[in-house]
Amino acid sequence: MASMMQPQIILLKEGTDTSQGKPQLISNINACMAVADVVRTTLGPRGMDKLIHDDKGNTTISNDGATIMKLLDIVHPAAKILVDIAKSQDSEVGDGTTTVVLLAGEFLKEAKPFIEDGVHPQNLIRSYRTASFMAIEKIKELAVSIEGKSLDEKRSLLAKCAATTLSSKLIGGEKDFFAKMVVDAVIAIGNEDRLNMIGIKKVQGGTMRDSFLVNGVAFKKTFSYAGFEQQPKKFLNPKILLLNIELELKSEKENAEIRLSDPLQYQSIVDAEWNIIYDKLDKCVKSGAKIVLSRLAIGDLATQYFADRDIFCAGRVAEDDLHRVAAATGATVQTSVNNVIDEVLGSCEIFEEKQVGSERFNIFSGCPLGQTATIVLRGGADQFIEEAERSLHDAIMIVRRAMKNSTVVAGGGAIDMEISRYLWQHARNIAGKSQLFINAYAKALEVIPRQLCDNAGFDATDVLNKLRQKHALAAGEGALYGVDINTGGISDSFANFVWEPAVVKINAINAATEAACLILSVDETVKNPKSESAQSDAAGMGRGRGGGGMRGGRGRGMRRR
Ligand code: ADP
Ligand code: MG
Repeated sequence: MASMMQPQIILLKEGTDTSQGKPQLISNINACMAVADVVRTTLGPRGMDKLIHDDKGNTTISNDGATIMKLLDIVHPAAKILVDIAKSQDSEVGDGTTTVVLLAGEFLKEAKPFIEDGVHPQNLIRSYRTASFMAIEKIKELAVSIEGKSLDEKRSLLAKCAATTLSSKLIGGEKDFFAKMVVDAVIAIGNEDRLNMIGIKKVQGGTMRDSFLVNGVAFKKTFSYAGFEQQPKKFLNPKILLLNIELELKSEKENAEIRLSDPLQYQSIVDAEWNIIYDKLDKCVKSGAKIVLSRLAIGDLATQYFADRDIFCAGRVAEDDLHRVAAATGATVQTSVNNVIDEVLGSCEIFEEKQVGSERFNIFSGCPLGQTATIVLRGGADQFIEEAERSLHDAIMIVRRAMKNSTVVAGGGAIDMEISRYLWQHARNIAGKSQLFINAYAKALEVIPRQLCDNAGFDATDVLNKLRQKHALAAGEGALYGVDINTGGISDSFANFVWEPAVVKINAINAATEAACLILSVDETVKNPKSESAQSDAAGMGRGRGGGGMRGGRGRGMRRR
């Protein structure tokens, strides 16, 4: 209506779609709320999973907010922002991806009535920013440090953080088993910053409990030639040689052109080739290595040659596996076999080729540098193992974060309730409209405990009232109380070891507030006609053709006349 009353000034190309003002803002908020509704039910230990089926026929079952958001393929321009914050939360801290989307959705939902009533978005944004700043200060104040504890103590504390993360996942039933494994893996890599030093290998079959941790490297046996079976499959303290060259006969004759004048000379050429490869193999053997790995192929001749000398070899080892072996055993990858000195060889306590389910695995354990660890995951369906891997990734990230920042807060909605109460209390002393906005922000924070209850089938109103009453107690007596997922009541989450690294909450609140403010600050979307037509072409071919047909019909009619 408003746009009809304005004088028409042509500014943009014809066909450009501009929606602006309040309706645009409201429509963006609605889109974001719709996205939040999708992931809503996955929050918490009793959350449900989503099965996502894409056009290529792949199915993914996941509980992870970031994974779901990525797979949803959202096209709405404003709602895409939520996808981005979920992704950034995933890469920054690794967990809390559902939380961040839910919070952003809830902040916007609380803002909606104000926008409808004609409040200027900038006023809301300012108050939201203040509230978020205060919330984060409060979290920092409430966070409990686990610094200065002994290693054993730290281990159990970290395991609790990992268990909290895992409790909402498919493998939640075995959370203690996996939490311990994750903590061992993270401690094993020490201060090493490269996440890829923890390998996760998936082997279908068996049960979750058959999963195990290798303090070192493990990878699937590579393709091998005849003669491999005669090689020994177990070594104690072997020397390890890593190569990046082919050990194959054929490799010598490539890229060469030879002209012969006498057929008899041919034999010498053939001999030369054999000599070259034998020379290479000889050098490998002389180096004293008992295990030879190469990123490139190791042919049948070499395999047999090594077998005769009780050496184990594997060709075509994946690059990241080879890097992990190098990091763990202290070996350096060689691009030539000339001059292999002792320093470039690695070693480990035990090398073994073992059967894991239906696969054979090469396992290096007891590595001196110990900067790597490998988790071998077992389980039934493919989708199950995939989701287990994603869950472990979350847990690994959390433990690493907790180790670095080493402060934790009470989960289960306890920290959210406490900040909410703090903001309510603070808002009481504010004169003016911003009191309402800060209250709205505080109310939005309650979405976490409320959703935890809803997802578990508890009476959310009842539980929230109990929580509010507890948190209102003087001197922060009830500050650690959160939803008790086992009884449907409330309990001291901290005492029950429902812990989350403070950084997860801080990052989630920060990112969700930023996203909400970003969406509130947009009052116009401009879509240029080109991108729009490209989109509708892709979306509805049928409609486009129908239109063409109509035009064609009219054209013929005209000609006839
Ligand atoms: P996200 O993707 O945001 O990490 P999750 O589905 O992992 O979402 O759920 C995390 C929420 O579940 C956190 O708020 C956490 O405090 C809560 N939570 C985890 N374990 C428990 C538990 N045992 N009891 C109560 N709440 C829990
Ligand atoms: Mg989680």
